[in-house]
Amino acid sequence: MKIFKFGGVSTQNASAIQHICEIVRSYQNEQMILVISALGKTTNQLEKLTDAFYNNKENKIKLFQQVVNKHEAIMSKLFDNSDKAVYNDLRKQFQALENYLEKESSENYDFEYDQIVSFGELFSSKIISHYLQKTQQANVWLDARKMIITDSNYREGNVDWQKTERRIQKTVNKHFENQHTKLLVTQGFISGTLEGITTTLGREGSDFTAAILAFSLNAKNVTIWKDVDGLLNADPKQFGNTIKLDNIPYGEAIELAYYGASVIHPKTLKPLQNKSIPLCVKSFIKHDEKGSTIHHFKKQKMIPCFIKKTNQVLLSISPKDFSFIAEENLSTIFAIFAFFGFKINLMQNSAISFSVCVDYRQNLKQLIEELQTEFYVKYNKNTELLTIRHYDRNSLSKLIENKKIILEQRNRTTLQVVLK
Ligand code: ASP
Ligand code: MG
Repeated sequence: MKIFKFGGVSTQNASAIQHICEIVRSYQNEQMILVISALGKTTNQLEKLTDAFYNNKENKIKLFQQVVNKHEAIMSKLFDNSDKAVYNDLRKQFQALENYLEKESSENYDFEYDQIVSFGELFSSKIISHYLQKTQQANVWLDARKMIITDSNYREGNVDWQKTERRIQKTVNKHFENQHTKLLVTQGFISGTLEGITTTLGREGSDFTAAILAFSLNAKNVTIWKDVDGLLNADPKQFGNTIKLDNIPYGEAIELAYYGASVIHPKTLKPLQNKSIPLCVKSFIKHDEKGSTIHHFKKQKMIPCFIKKTNQVLLSISPKDFSFIAEENLSTIFAIFAFFGFKINLMQNSAISFSVCVDYRQNLKQLIEELQTEFYVKYNKNTELLTIRHYDRNSLSKLIENKKIILEQRNRTTLQVVLK
């Protein structure tokens, strides 16, 4: 059994959808589950809609209509008026969202977010399932919210692995065992609680969905189809001369994702590693080419890999009472960062000061005010965090250009600098 995940770029217009359905056809003899993200930038649009709904803004209806129009435009290229089933199905979905928007918002933003943003994957997976059907690829559409069970930590649901595994096996085996169909279509990113309330797994979470399915079903492999040739040693949008990595050990890929390489959702790899299920990253444009494979193998020498995070804030924190930075004040500091939802990307301490680099967030001011009740805080906004795995002497100097290093940290494999 194979799991294929198609992200937003590979479904952004009608010809892209036709193309992925042809890719699926070339594997028609195998049992397969397709995991589908929302079309193109739909999730971003639905985030705006959530904001409008929550704050009861006037543009709510306009934003809703834009999302509907975009899907209808794609549908009109894929289907004829006589394809009643798809239009009926989607009309019901659009109506469900519209009805939801007519209600009054609760106080819980994250809850509302999941109820609204999850429609993106429902729309896209329905359209693709119907299009496969139309092109003689019989398939069954499955509701991921009934298979992937999480707690009610909205926008970042924590998976209940036991229940999820059982639900997935039961649902999928029912279809595969009696040769009912070879092809199942489901949604990435969305999940549900035991009580049946919709949750999500966090932005870019569709990769993780693919991994959860693979883990639960002991799939042969997972393929993530992307608009890049595979896993590269740097993001081509930020760096020139990137090189594709053909084979990557799980541990290395986990490190790269941890430092911010945006190709794979960080939670995706661990479940696959635990069951030794290879993850292939392939180009849906050059679909016959090999791409990259993350799997178990003896690591050879790796080439330098570069990860740049922009919009970083570097904070230096020192106790007001001139005491040393020690366990007690570190635990206070960590608790404050956690409370305000900041994830620490790098930290370094000296006797009297503790430095951390974090992604900028809107509530930076509140974080600093809270820290200032006990500490002196200095900070630098708009900095850049550059991480080089497997660095060599040349790689850094070329990248710094005319920027200034304001903090540096290195170990045997990884060099990190904060640049201003
Ligand atoms: N549609 C969601 C997002 O854009 C999930 C995903 O694409 O992985 O974040
Ligand atoms: Mg993605």
